[in-house]
Amino acid sequence: MIYINPKNNAKVSSELTRQEAIAILLPHKEPEVTGFIRSLIFHGQNQSLRGAQVYWFYKKAEEFNPNKTATAAITVGAGFARIQTMFKQAKAKGLKKPRIKLKSNGRKIILSLAPDSGNNKDHIYVKINDGNGEGDIYSGKVTPAGEFKPVDGCPEGVAEYLQQFANDPLQAIIAYGRETGECSCCGRELTNHVSIELGIGPICRERFGF
Ligand SMILES: [Zn+2]
Repeated sequence: MIYINPKNNAKVSSELTRQEAIAILLPHKEPEVTGFIRSLIFHGQNQSLRGAQVYWFYKKAEEFNPNKTATAAITVGAGFARIQTMFKQAKAKGLKKPRIKLKSNGRKIILSLAPDSGNNKDHIYVKINDGNGEGDIYSGKVTPAGEFKPVDGCPEGVAEYLQQFANDPLQAIIAYGRETGECSCCGRELTNHVSIELGIGPICRERFGF
């Protein structure tokens, strides 16, 4: 079956039955299966999926389908070990949910540290926001060894951008701050000249160790 998202004509192909899809999605507690997708599972169990919901339901189920060939991991470089250390340091300094927002080709790329409690401890989650009203979409994770594991449907160019970021994180953060006028870490408006030039406010700068 091909399922089409009526909002943007995106397509997903799936041979899963609804029950199989529910069985795949239910055990997952990753951020991409919470909230919206959980409500779809609930609706799926109650026979009332419509339009874009049907598309997202099967798209997510296929992403987690254990019988599907895995999307190849892409090495994003040794620089990522440094970034993981940076996030952990920010957490140790009191930042509850360290995250960094970047911008490339009009698309926001949001990096956040996975919680210590889950299977993805020390991984960095990668979310993409295309500004099309779909919010931050989980697009993959970077392992502590510096491998980016994109989900199916992760836009092209993201791995290359992560490589670039790993090589020179401060440059990417500066670019974000200059373009948006907000701190790449906490999202607060950058108010003084030095902060604007650095793309990051003084408190976040200290926490992340720039
Ligand atoms: Zn900040």
